[in-house]
Amino acid sequence: MIFTDALVIGAGPVGLYQVFQLGLLEIKCHVIDALPYPGGQCIELYPDKPIYDIPGMVRTTGRELTASLLAQIKPFDAPFHMSQTVNQIEKLPDGRFQVAISSGQQFNTKVIMIAAGVGAFQPKLLQVASLQKFEKSQLFYHRQAPQGVTESRVVVVGGDDAAFECAIELATPGKAASVTLLHRRDVYQATPELVARAHALRDANALQLMVGQITGCDENAGLLSAVQVTGTSGQIHHVPTEILLVCLGLSPKLGPMADWGLAMDRKQLAVDTERFATSIPGIFAVGDINTYPGKKKLILSGFHECALAAFGAADVVYPGKKPQLEYTTSSSRLHKLLNVSSKESQASSTP
Ligand SMILES: Cc1cc2nc3c(=O)[nH]c(=O)nc-3n(C[C@H](O)[C@H](O)[C@H](O)COP(=O)(O)OP(=O)(O)OC[C@H]3O[C@@H](n4cnc5c(N)ncnc54)[C@H](O)[C@@H]3O)c2cc1C
Repeated sequence: MIFTDALVIGAGPVGLYQVFQLGLLEIKCHVIDALPYPGGQCIELYPDKPIYDIPGMVRTTGRELTASLLAQIKPFDAPFHMSQTVNQIEKLPDGRFQVAISSGQQFNTKVIMIAAGVGAFQPKLLQVASLQKFEKSQLFYHRQAPQGVTESRVVVVGGDDAAFECAIELATPGKAASVTLLHRRDVYQATPELVARAHALRDANALQLMVGQITGCDENAGLLSAVQVTGTSGQIHHVPTEILLVCLGLSPKLGPMADWGLAMDRKQLAVDTERFATSIPGIFAVGDINTYPGKKKLILSGFHECALAAFGAADVVYPGKKPQLEYTTSSSRLHKLLNVSSKESQASSTP
């Protein structure tokens, strides 16, 4: 059991900024996300596309914004629990919450900040029943290839950036015995740069590109030995396979959150606009997951919500102590929290 002041569900841009705002009010938190890396939609859906409407930034990208947010929250040293989905939330008689995540780890927390966006990103599954039993031993999803595949023949399924990046990485000398990138057609969603790199590797015999769909598999002594690929002409090919890595994209699932007893409005959490509190005292919701009159699903709206939600959380974590609004420009308490030296703060206050 991990005891904490706050639990932030979701490490998208808004969840990350929530850590910062909680930190300014000296509220310790842990962060949980279903993805293996922070950044939410910014990293998963548009890492290298330009964003032009973040205040004070003429142009950034999903990747750059995530890196800046992570740098900004560094002083608060919040532990991250990645590739974990929050399954269950229970209110305890003393007003605290007990929260269970997919690994079985339990948390006991004073407040919960839900920054779950459009839901937990889950990999789209390969719909071939005979392959299911190999999951986590020889079948892996979305960038989760195991270490040490040097002796293995690997088949990567998919046509997006993730599929190409994994196939290219595995095709570098010393990584896998052989790599086949399989897609249902020869038109790809991956960037032209990645497709060009894959073509160059194919021309150097380091990677095979194949068109078709997996329709079955072959086994040897209980182990997956080949996938059966039905090509465009209907012919079945048996492709030797020790590791199957499926990158068919991710889709967000609201999942168990719908059963936590929170008031919802069309799959979003209804909140007030004073503290972004949900219908359960002690649970707040910020970013794309919440709804209120006039809600706009923009990163900047989420950032504003985080500041007010942090003050709402402070009332629960430190009851009776009304936290004062302090400026990061001039507050020595905040400078201490942010590890800003007095020399630096004097220099930065000089126009
Ligand atoms: C193509 C595209 C372009 C966009 N461009 C812009 C733009 O230019 N400007 C702008 O302001 N906005 C833009 N947006 C919208 C912006 O990305 C979202 O408003 C923003 O990502 C919301 O942030 P969030 O942190 O609330 O949610 P998300 O980014 O969705 O992050 C939520 C995180 O919570 C995790 N999660 C959810 N449920 C659980 C659970 N039960 N357990 C564990 N983890 C969970 C998810 O895995 C996810 O990582 C764009 C969106 C898209 C799709």
